[in-house]
Amino acid sequence: MSIAENLAQIKQNIAEAKTKSPNPTEEVTLVVVSKMHEANELQEVLDCGEYILGENRVQEMLEKYEKLPKEVKWHLIGHLQTNKVKYIYDKIELLHSLDSVSLAEEISKQMSKIGGTMPCLVQVNVAGEEQKSGLKVEEAEDFILKASQLPGIKIMGLMHIAPNYADKEMVRPLFKQMYELFISLKAKNIPNTQMRYLSMGMSGDYEIAVEEGSNMVRIGSAVFKTASPF
Ligand SMILES: *Cc1c(COP(=O)(O)O)cnc(C)c1O
Repeated sequence: MSIAENLAQIKQNIAEAKTKSPNPTEEVTLVVVSKMHEANELQEVLDCGEYILGENRVQEMLEKYEKLPKEVKWHLIGHLQTNKVKYIYDKIELLHSLDSVSLAEEISKQMSKIGGTMPCLVQVNVAGEEQKSGLKVEEAEDFILKASQLPGIKIMGLMHIAPNYADKEMVRPLFKQMYELFISLKAKNIPNTQMRYLSMGMSGDYEIAVEEGSNMVRIGSAVFKTASPF
C-alpha cells in the first residue's frame, strides 16, 4: 500500500465511524503524525493534499520546518518543555499538549513579542496513567479558567492520549469520558476559550475515537505503513 492508498483508506474509515458519532455531520480533522519520517516522504503526504503535520519533538519539527513548504500547518502534539517554547511559538498552528500553568505563562510571554495568540488544546489524562502527562479530569476546568486569562493564549479544546491496551475496546469508556468533559466545558462558555476541537484517536483506535465524538485524529503509523515484500 502506498501513502496515498493508506490515506484514502483512513479517510473512508473516518467517514464510516462518523456515521455513529454523536455529531455525525462534524468535520473530522486529520493530523498526519510525521515524527520519524523524513522530509521527502512527507512531500508525498503533501502531494495528497494533507498539509497538517504533527510532530512530538521540537528539534525534529524545526529540521523539517526548514525543508518543507511554508504551507504546512505544524501541530506540536508531544510534551513541550517550557525552555523550548521560544523556538516554536511563531511556527505552529496548534499546540495539543498544554498541561501546566508555567508552560501557559511562558507561551504568553513569548507571544507578547509578536502580539499574536497561540491556539492550544489542554491535555487531559482520563486514565490517570502516571507516566503520561496531562491534567486530571477534575483539574481541567480550573486550569482552563486560569490559562485562558493569560494574553496570547487561546484554549481551543482538549487532547487525549489513550493507553496502549491490547484490547482496543477498552479505550471506549475513556473516550466517552473525554467527550462528556468536552461537552460540559463547552457548555460553560468560559471567556476567551472556544471548545472547538477534541483531539483523540491514533492509528490503533481512531475509529473508536470518532465514534465517541472526536473531531481531530492524530495518525502516524497507519499512514506510512507499507506492505511487506515477503
Ligand atoms: C506518535 C503519536 C501519535 C500517532 O501514533 P500512531 O499510533 O503512529 O498513529 C499520536 N499522538 C501522539 C501524541 C503521538 O506521540
